[in-house]
Amino acid sequence: MAFRVTAQSVLEKISVDHLECSICTNRFRQPKLLDCLHSFCLQCLHDLRQSQDPSGTKLTCPLCRRETMLKGSGVADLPNNFAFSALVEEVTMQENLLEGQGSKIKCQNCDEENQAVSRCMDCDNFLCEECQKAHGRMAVMKSHKIYTLAQFQSGEIVYKSKLREEVPKCGKHPDQNLNVYCNTCQQVICTTCSVLDHAKHSLTGLPEAAEKCKKKVTEMVQKSERRKTQLSTTIKETSKSREELDAMFANTQKKISKKVAKIQKEITKIQKEEQKLLKETDTIYKDKTIAFEAVQATNRKEVTQTEHKLEEVKQLMNQASCYEILELQQKLLHNLSELTGKQPQQVPDKLTFMD
Ligand SMILES: [Zn+2]
Ligand SMILES: [Zn+2]
Ligand SMILES: [Zn+2]
Ligand SMILES: [Zn+2]
Ligand SMILES: [Zn+2]
Ligand SMILES: [Zn+2]
Repeated sequence: MAFRVTAQSVLEKISVDHLECSICTNRFRQPKLLDCLHSFCLQCLHDLRQSQDPSGTKLTCPLCRRETMLKGSGVADLPNNFAFSALVEEVTMQENLLEGQGSKIKCQNCDEENQAVSRCMDCDNFLCEECQKAHGRMAVMKSHKIYTLAQFQSGEIVYKSKLREEVPKCGKHPDQNLNVYCNTCQQVICTTCSVLDHAKHSLTGLPEAAEKCKKKVTEMVQKSERRKTQLSTTIKETSKSREELDAMFANTQKKISKKVAKIQKEITKIQKEEQKLLKETDTIYKDKTIAFEAVQATNRKEVTQTEHKLEEVKQLMNQASCYEILELQQKLLHNLSELTGKQPQQVPDKLTFMD
């Protein structure tokens, strides 16, 4: 048992908590063990079975949901957790010893209801002042080991439950102690049973069997510890890998964003260039249209002027006399040559914008 009950440890709430049944939240009363190693009071398990399935052969642990098969007379047949019972008794005793200087503890030797002052280890009784004196006077009891309550209160002497020394009796032979282990049946039996029912089985003495069992359990515990260490290592490694994954993920995200930002910058640059080029094209286009219109206007004006001149020349030729025509010959020809000498104006350059 991992519990060591001393006056100090009694005051530690944790160890006290361990002694509470998680169904009724009271200290264990006749604790029974389920297959999952969880313990509950006998009565609590009775009630639990009634609420689960009164006629069923299974009981589900309310703490871990694991099932325990019931046989024979149900929960009463489940193994007792004597260690917890003993611990409850010892802790309760230590509390009584400390509370009000142990005023709750009465003499177990007489019927006077006197407050106990000491305990005889041989009689296994608390003694009042009178009984303690009587103990010292009687020859047979003179050798008895007696400790004062103060010695128990200080933790110098530890109160031990009688349950710890109790040897369980055989179910078939109530007067016989269970003192043989049958390896074949994996069962603790009495000497009579070993002769009658297990004669041809492999039998071992209890201390040896217990030693073997402890060794096996210790080996398994060590294996479990190693597995636990392995698991912890794996968890640490997985955490590290996970951190690496996270870092990689963040890094890739950053890289993508950086690349896109770069492309966006380039797009902005190209868009600016587009705007610049469009503006330039626009200016060139406007300049060209002005030139086009100027050329058109000049040529149209020229056409009108030519029309007027031709009209005047034609009228003169129709109405003027021979003298007049000849006299005006130079002027007429000069005017006409002015008209014919001029080439129509052309659009300045080719129809291109830019290369
Ligand atoms: Zn309970
Ligand atoms: Zn359980
Ligand atoms: Zn007494
Ligand atoms: Zn005694
Ligand atoms: Zn056997
Ligand atoms: Zn027996």
